[in-house]
Amino acid sequence: MNEMMSNRNNNSSRTSKDSTNHPHPMIPVPDAMRIALREVASSLLREIDHDEPKTFTETVSLQHALHRSSAEIIKAPISIPVVDTSIMDGFCIRYADYLSAQSGDEFRVIGYSVAGDASMRNDGEGHDSSNSFEAMYVTTGAVLPAGFDSVIPIEKVKFKEVSGESNNDVLESIRSGHEGCISIDKGKVALAEKQWVRKAGSDLKAGAVLLHEGQTICSAQIALLAQTGIFSVLVRRKTIVGVLSTGDELINEQNFQSGSWNKVGKIYDANRPAIMSLVQNFGALVVDLGQASDTTESLEEKLSAGLSSCDIVVTSGGVSMGELDLIENVLVQKLHGTVTFGRIHMKPGKPTTFLTIENFGSKSLTKFVLSLPGNPVSAMVCSHLFLYPILSLINRGVKRHETVNEIVDGTPVHPEIDVILNDDLKLDRERPEYHRVTLKWDIGRSIFVATSTGMQRSSCLMSMNGATALVCLPRATDDKTKCKAGEKHLALLISNSFKNIVDPQIVKHSRHMLLHSILTKRKKTKVPLKIGLVLRKTAGSPEEHIQKVQSILDTVEIDFVDSVHHQERLSQILLEKTKGIDVLIIISNEGFRDSNKLATFIDSCLHKRSDALALQMRQGAASECGLAALFEVIVGTINETLVCSVPEEGLEGALRKIHGRVIFHAAMITQGKPYPQK
Ligand code: AMP
Ligand code: MG
Repeated sequence: MNEMMSNRNNNSSRTSKDSTNHPHPMIPVPDAMRIALREVASSLLREIDHDEPKTFTETVSLQHALHRSSAEIIKAPISIPVVDTSIMDGFCIRYADYLSAQSGDEFRVIGYSVAGDASMRNDGEGHDSSNSFEAMYVTTGAVLPAGFDSVIPIEKVKFKEVSGESNNDVLESIRSGHEGCISIDKGKVALAEKQWVRKAGSDLKAGAVLLHEGQTICSAQIALLAQTGIFSVLVRRKTIVGVLSTGDELINEQNFQSGSWNKVGKIYDANRPAIMSLVQNFGALVVDLGQASDTTESLEEKLSAGLSSCDIVVTSGGVSMGELDLIENVLVQKLHGTVTFGRIHMKPGKPTTFLTIENFGSKSLTKFVLSLPGNPVSAMVCSHLFLYPILSLINRGVKRHETVNEIVDGTPVHPEIDVILNDDLKLDRERPEYHRVTLKWDIGRSIFVATSTGMQRSSCLMSMNGATALVCLPRATDDKTKCKAGEKHLALLISNSFKNIVDPQIVKHSRHMLLHSILTKRKKTKVPLKIGLVLRKTAGSPEEHIQKVQSILDTVEIDFVDSVHHQERLSQILLEKTKGIDVLIIISNEGFRDSNKLATFIDSCLHKRSDALALQMRQGAASECGLAALFEVIVGTINETLVCSVPEEGLEGALRKIHGRVIFHAAMITQGKPYPQK
């Protein structure tokens, strides 16, 4: 086992805490984000497999639908307007009459149609009229009476009663049965056919999509739903996020009231209100989990309570290297959590830790814990960087046929823009920094100028004050120790006012997500073999496995990576995703009983087995890790793809046996290409 793996599997080893022997590898921010998103995506897919996502929706009235994520596609049930409608107050006539009339000819006013009161004829003869030179009085929004096709605004014609009496109130005159007429001065009134008429369906056609699944509902959508007679909407249930502060130094309400808080060294709890407000800001439902002291008992009690009632628990404090930093130990040893990442190459927020907890309580759902450092700025910056994308993935939702990769790639992350620095900024020697800035639009240069919020120490909350963006600064090198004023850099927008005008970026297109990422460091070779990677219940992250596969097998390009939990999904991949893939590598980490099941299943899918290659790989795996002998290695072909199922333990040993010419030739043979000459 390599060092990374042994650290990952041995969380209890986290007692000797020195930075040279840290239990977790320090990974770049984009990789940590991807890893967290993968975990969340896999868990949502599992819920779909268990047919549980129904519990994740609810119906709300339009009044409560603002900013919720729609769980259904809604099409307009009716057209708008439903029937031809007048746009003006005036008189409707037939356009043909207008054409044949002489200037000054009179049109008899035979009735009226006002908004909400469909056409009424004075003679009570039904609505349709076929006599020429007739008109009806109409108001804005009134149904255009049958037989009429154009409207003349009231200010363009003169109405008079036939009796000669003058009555300024046209409607009253018509309603009281007085005969009246209008005359049109054609020199002044140029009427076009269907003028001032809103044709049925001209604003909106029945069947048009008003709301897509996963779309965030804003005021305009609420208006459209209301306009088409829809009073409620199915939305995704809000994610419930519990927020817990930890630390013996925190002043709480009880010791504040009893006066026992008044000791040197006690501090007010800034993180809980800060993170709770961010959770609300990100559209989730927040639960206040209070404070825990730095003891195993207190942490276990508060964390279990939080995990029972919440989907995600966000903690602050207690994840650094001190003796009282116990959160991870409690989550792993007492609550059976698995650390997904535990250290990030960033400033501020290095110790940020993410854990998954399977099957917590009675539900077969995965719970997530984001453990943030105690320093308030770190806690806030990391809430923006990690919690926001996680919640946006859950809001986006997943579909049964999607792969984990597709879901992650399609997840909205922060809107990002280029900014110009207003100040010289010193770079950190060790880590890339997320520098807090305020933004101001520079009209002359047509770009935002970023001004530092000042001292960036992770305890100094004033650096968050007024911050609208995080500028992504690289770490210092020997050649470059500072960024100079005027340089252009990438900034992530964290303020709501900006989020409303700049669309969030999706992972796939995000430049931030490409920064420093392992996934981008693909080998560029002339004829790379296309590799598909399938991870089944592996302890290592996809990124670790990609790195291993790429470092051992030359000339490969990873085409896709998928984490599967169910055989059904694996079978779907074997059927649908092998096309165009030269080699599919399935990495699993199951005991030999499970593994046998997996091996039998894969075996049954193969068109042809290659026992000789399998034997080689098995020996390679076992020579690196004795445990690998407990796993079956299966190699064979499905159509034109070489499929290798290998154990996670000893993976590198297995791959070494086929690296270089062996795997290349095996792929060629699988594809029926001539056996390559030396
Ligand atoms: P820790 O991550 O627990 O080592 O804490 C790092 C720093 O953050 C210490 O100075 C703590 O006192 C401070 N801190 C921890 N929790 C909070 C909190 N809820 N509010 C404000 N400061 C905190
Ligand atoms: Mg602490």
